[in-house]
Amino acid sequence: MPETKDITAKQVSERPSDDRYDPAGIESKWYGRWETDPALYAAEPHTSKRKKYYVLEMLPYPSGVLHMGHVRNYAIGDALARYMWMKGHNVLHPMGWDAFGLPAENSAIKNRTHPKQWTLGNISHMKEQMKRLGFAYDWSREVTTCLPDYYRWNQWFFLKLYEKGLAYRKKSKVNWCPECATVLANEQVVNGCCWRHEETRVEQRELEQWFVRTTRYAEELLRGLDQLEGWPEKVRTMQRNWIGRSEGALVEFALEGVAGPAGAKIAVFTTRIDTIFGATSIQLAPEHPLVADLTADDHHLRGKVEELVREQIKAREEGDVGAIEKHGVFTGRYAINPFNQERIPIWVANYILMDYGTGAIMAVPAHDERDYEFAKKYELEIRVVILPRRVGEPPASGEDEEPILPYTHMDSLLINSGDYNELSNQEAIVKMTRDAEQRGFGKATVNYRLKDWGISRQRYWGTPIPILYCEKCGVVPVPQSQLPVVLPENVDITLTGGSPLEHVPEFVNVTCPKCGGPARRETDTMDTFVDSSWYFYRYTDAHLNDRPLDTATVAYWFEIDQYIGGVEHAILHLIYSRFWTKFMRDLGMVRNGEPALRLFTQGMVIKDGAKMSKSRGNVVSPDDMVAQFGADSTRMYALFATSPDRELDWQETGVEGVHRFLSRAYRFVVRHASVARENLGSTQVKPRKETLGPRARAIQRKLHQTIKRVTDDFQGRWHFNTSVSAIMELVNELYGAEQDIAAGKIPAGLLADAQRKLVLLLAPFSPFLASELWERMHPTDMVDSGVFLRHPWPEYDPALAKEDEITYAVQINGKLRGHIMVPADTPQPLVEKRAQADEKIRAVIEGKQVLKIIFVQGKLVNIVVR
Ligand SMILES: [Zn+2]
Ligand SMILES: [Zn+2]
Repeated sequence: MPETKDITAKQVSERPSDDRYDPAGIESKWYGRWETDPALYAAEPHTSKRKKYYVLEMLPYPSGVLHMGHVRNYAIGDALARYMWMKGHNVLHPMGWDAFGLPAENSAIKNRTHPKQWTLGNISHMKEQMKRLGFAYDWSREVTTCLPDYYRWNQWFFLKLYEKGLAYRKKSKVNWCPECATVLANEQVVNGCCWRHEETRVEQRELEQWFVRTTRYAEELLRGLDQLEGWPEKVRTMQRNWIGRSEGALVEFALEGVAGPAGAKIAVFTTRIDTIFGATSIQLAPEHPLVADLTADDHHLRGKVEELVREQIKAREEGDVGAIEKHGVFTGRYAINPFNQERIPIWVANYILMDYGTGAIMAVPAHDERDYEFAKKYELEIRVVILPRRVGEPPASGEDEEPILPYTHMDSLLINSGDYNELSNQEAIVKMTRDAEQRGFGKATVNYRLKDWGISRQRYWGTPIPILYCEKCGVVPVPQSQLPVVLPENVDITLTGGSPLEHVPEFVNVTCPKCGGPARRETDTMDTFVDSSWYFYRYTDAHLNDRPLDTATVAYWFEIDQYIGGVEHAILHLIYSRFWTKFMRDLGMVRNGEPALRLFTQGMVIKDGAKMSKSRGNVVSPDDMVAQFGADSTRMYALFATSPDRELDWQETGVEGVHRFLSRAYRFVVRHASVARENLGSTQVKPRKETLGPRARAIQRKLHQTIKRVTDDFQGRWHFNTSVSAIMELVNELYGAEQDIAAGKIPAGLLADAQRKLVLLLAPFSPFLASELWERMHPTDMVDSGVFLRHPWPEYDPALAKEDEITYAVQINGKLRGHIMVPADTPQPLVEKRAQADEKIRAVIEGKQVLKIIFVQGKLVNIVVR
């Protein structure tokens, strides 16, 4: 646009001072210029003939300010996006906001600001910070999940899930504060008490809640991990463990004293049915539905079970039920082992979880670590049913036959097990499972640790679940034509007593679309992980208003080529979003089965050896860094301090160091900018290295070596710290040539070429400075931000990058005697000959017998003589 050109020309004339690097001046100038060109970072449409590249950083929660972890995450993605533009790709680099969630509500309660106002205010501030840091996002695709034009599609998807039987309602436990008379999120439970009522113990209450049947895809979610070779192995392992597939058997133990075929049964999942004759107790989770019945008449027992529940909740909050001090209580009741009709006592134990398996286990203390520990503590019977002997081996003589307990090996055989004695474990598992099936008390089964995804939240700031409850018709989905169900804004969030939405009659009371009678609207909202499960599809066409996405557009952009974010999202976000992709694929909306082919998880940013946090007072604010050193130095330091996958310990002196380096680069290029301006064609010029003097050749060699290293880092392991140090070496080489430049010994074409390529190498890391220097090196009418952003990445010539001469150390009998210089490509025999012909060496070995020569390529010749 002509207006843009005018502004450009005007701003060029207002150049900051030449001799001093002034990041504030340079950055505000370029910030202003980039603001006038909103299409600068726009991707081409999916009909583009260019190769696409979709680079994505995880969208942030708009808490109000960027922290250093964000800056690092975005600096990595931004460098990659800029590199890919320069490599000629059609780059999609979007940004958005994970804008629903609890902190907005908390802040509403505390500061009396509406969550929407608070959230949108934070977004505008953080967006400003991102722009100030020079991150190259295509803002025309911005996605804000708390706005109806986005969350209506959450509702649309929910209705699809419901239609396919993948969304359902069931009773489930929630945290309940009796004082607030409302549900609490897990984060609002502090040491078992309410966050607002520190003295009030949180209760567990059963409420009808909505679930998404993620378990339907458990097997595929697990198998798909094998194909995700571009994901960190640790993330794949975490997901495998989370899905937690195990093969085993479900066996039913009858409850003693409850007669008839409909009598109460306790289903137990076990991977070791072969040890079932060694079961000496049944252990129930404290929340197992049977526990209430078993303890109904015994006040004392009920009290003890409640204690176990509390212990388990506490352990859960502390994050590790596995490490719990194991407690249990005998119910006084017995179950019957279906294999031998033996009575075994029923206990309730604090380490058994209701949400794993069936919430009940058979305890086999002789052959399980945990059961052994528990049995020892409560003096329960420990019965050996497995011997450390293989099938066919004769019994060991005498007392060695008894295994050391607990004995958990699988390559042994059965004893004390009736008809199954002398079978191997594997044979017994097959036969006993089959028998259980035939006799009707068990079956083979695969168990997953993965649970269905509970998406109901009894909170205000989330997507309303599009469901109605009609007295006549029951559960009625909101018709698609009535979407979006808009979240009402006139809500008193400070209310106690249930979900805030329950108190908005115009929201709750509706007409049933089926029968026209009165109905109530669902007041639960969706878990915010729903928002982030598919947001990256929306970026491909963010303003589509009749569908969540366009299949052809998505087919062009997906899978995401590179996804970048924190390892804390390795499980939930990445499982849910993989699930969502498979669901959309089965709806025929997308063709890909996984959202992202490559995933990178950056290391944390710490300070003084600890995580940055307000309470520790060690938070480094990006704003302060930018004010002090500039955005370029801040970003470059985030990449230079260490490789991106490692923990970064923030050092202000380090940022200062990067700032000094950028000053040096700035001064050098500015000083010689006229050379570049007068040798514009020099990018194509490749002076033959033989015609160059030693200094000039050194510059040429270093230039090509640097391009190679930085390119290799982008293509490979992303060790941007080594990229940046390579560029620093190049700048040093240029400074070392100042005298030769002054003496006219460096060809102008070479100097121009080196400067221009140095600036191109800097572009992905310090875009403000690079833009400024690029402008200095070109006449006004050649300067255009867009052209520079997409300027081809410099190529290197391997022949020019190669060292010309190599120095070999020459030893005699291991003792250093001198050095020789030879052309880099000299073959070994010739190097050895040259070493022996060297004057100093010859003098020492004269008249002696050469026994052998030890040769280390590129380094050393050791002559062994006698
Ligand atoms: Zn409370
Ligand atoms: Zn109805």
